Amino acid sequence: MRKKIVAGNWKMNKTFSEAEGLLFDIADLLSESRPKDVEVVVCPPAIYLELASDIAQQNDFSCGAQNLSQYDPGAYTGELSAEMVKSAGVKYVILGHSERRTYFGENDEIIAAKISQALKHDIIPIYCCGEVLQEREENRHFDVVAEQVNKALCHFANHEIRQVVIAYEPVWAIGTGKTATPAQAQEMHAYIRSLISRHYGQETAEEMSILYGGSCNPGNAAEIFEQPDVDGGLIGGASLKADDFVKIINSFKK
Ligand code: PEP
Repeated sequence: MRKKIVAGNWKMNKTFSEAEGLLFDIADLLSESRPKDVEVVVCPPAIYLELASDIAQQNDFSCGAQNLSQYDPGAYTGELSAEMVKSAGVKYVILGHSERRTYFGENDEIIAAKISQALKHDIIPIYCCGEVLQEREENRHFDVVAEQVNKALCHFANHEIRQVVIAYEPVWAIGTGKTATPAQAQEMHAYIRSLISRHYGQETAEEMSILYGGSCNPGNAAEIFEQPDVDGGLIGGASLKADDFVKIINSFKK
């Protein structure tokens, strides 16, 4: 049975006291109502990982990082190794996000090295892929996503790939207020699952969770999550408001 997951990506937002307040607000709202079969993941900035892990552990949700280094520990000023991230109690890490690809020059090779580090240290990678608007308009979105999935993921062994969560995040939908239609999301998720099936077999493909990300909000989440190949969401802006984030989690009715 594949896991249903809703993960919040806080990006570079919140001061310490705001982060603490948001974590407790999420915990309080989750204690009032939540679907029992959905794993909730909060991915705050790295400086709050230990705090978030502690609060998450006490309140039955999980903590994820937004990045980690592709290198083993050593002389890499400013970086965080997978080992360090793991030691802060982190369960997940977002890798391959379009903002990392665009602003920090991360390509599929670097991302693949980061996924290896995560897997080596028992951290579940949430691998983000997705096309930009021009690629969709030119009808190249399937090819673009296939290349991202093949290059960053398809050299891993079957037991490793089963640890990975994939997030389909059309770049034109991230932070823009334009969401993929449920049909567009379903079509791409089914395609991604078929790519995994081609490399690793149907059983493995059926086991993998594929999340949708891109302007998900309490008003559109239910319809998207209803799609048979959508196993949850990666939520950016709406995860910064406890109320909206928990409404999104509770819109998971499948
Ligand atoms: C994201 O950055 O992963 C994301 C999905 O952002 P938003 O929900 O704000 O579009």
